[in-house]
Amino acid sequence: MDDLKNGPNMTRRAFLAAAAAVGAAAFLYSNAPGVAAAIEKSGKRLLWLRGSGCGGCTASMLSGGNPEVLTALNKIKLELAYHDGLMGQQGVFVDGSPAGDSGHNSNIRLDELVDEGGYVLVVEGAIPNGPEGSGRYCMSGATPFKQIFMNAAPGASCIIALGTCASYGGISRSLKVADATGVSFSGTSRMEGAMARYGLNNNVINVPGCPPNPDWLLLTLADVLSGADVEVDAYGRPKAFFGSAVHESCPRRGAFDRALRDDGFSEGNCLYNLGCKGTLAFADCPTRRWNDGGSMCTQSGGPCVACVEPSFPDAFMPFFSKVESRGILGDVDVDTGAKIIIGATVIGAGIHAVKRLAIGESGREDEKGGKR
Ligand code: SF4
Ligand code: SF4
Repeated sequence: MDDLKNGPNMTRRAFLAAAAAVGAAAFLYSNAPGVAAAIEKSGKRLLWLRGSGCGGCTASMLSGGNPEVLTALNKIKLELAYHDGLMGQQGVFVDGSPAGDSGHNSNIRLDELVDEGGYVLVVEGAIPNGPEGSGRYCMSGATPFKQIFMNAAPGASCIIALGTCASYGGISRSLKVADATGVSFSGTSRMEGAMARYGLNNNVINVPGCPPNPDWLLLTLADVLSGADVEVDAYGRPKAFFGSAVHESCPRRGAFDRALRDDGFSEGNCLYNLGCKGTLAFADCPTRRWNDGGSMCTQSGGPCVACVEPSFPDAFMPFFSKVESRGILGDVDVDTGAKIIIGATVIGAGIHAVKRLAIGESGREDEKGGKR
């Protein structure tokens, strides 16, 4: 921690070690002077755009930590300059007349900020292209969200796609009619994401989850602002949070290994037979937990639905159906399938093979756009 208190001398290794040990809000709160000093020269503004989603990502950020996101952002001197649900400027009209200044008119405020450039851009929600390429399935005022995103993206020093909708298309993408994608991916395809589709070229970090844990955003923001290169996996997710499967550290893992699998809810053992997809989901939920470290899905009795994965929700539905019941393990029967998964998860690297087998990633594209 001494490293952190020195502010600008903070090393990334020290930052990650300390940040991993506690919740993000608590970390940022107790180390605010050091983190703020480290990023002071950046003078960053945060633009938070919301496209096709449910608003749950914002709700998670506001209610999932202590202190909540606005206080935490304040502590690290990051100005939330635009968020259509939280900012003071709410409309184009005031008392029936068009408001002509950025103090009242959110559209003018956004235009000014985009002209200035140099901001961190958080995108929540997917980016619909339909109908017929117009993007009009998601409008903000009179402007398609697709256009708002295309205007804002080039001026961003970094883009964070927040939530599975913005990262990979998520639930919006699964409604095929909207022709919606994530910022840099559409499902597992980087070539079909909005960045490639609209010829944009910024650095994008994905912070998926439906919704995401507030820690994941706050720590990623602090890491970005400290000037570090955030290490990401093949799907653009920070490895620090999305590097291991939920199953590896699940509180019910002991029951799984002893083949104690529940066939009804609230029985207290492993939820595999109830459709748990924790073997296929890569996130640190079991160690970080939610609501200020209180609990997480499998701990509270709910099967993991793999909401952080690029193919969510389509590849994991029905949520309460066993992996084998859906036939995605091919001809492997239930017991053999369970043995494969037990064996593979004991050997850390094996879980990736199981994941590929289970969700059929044979069509996955590599960084250069080629098929693997
Ligand atoms: S990722 Fe989930 S919580 Fe966030 S906007 Fe999409 S549907 Fe809502
Ligand atoms: S199958 Fe699900 S409930 Fe069972 S140990 Fe794995 S993650 Fe936990």
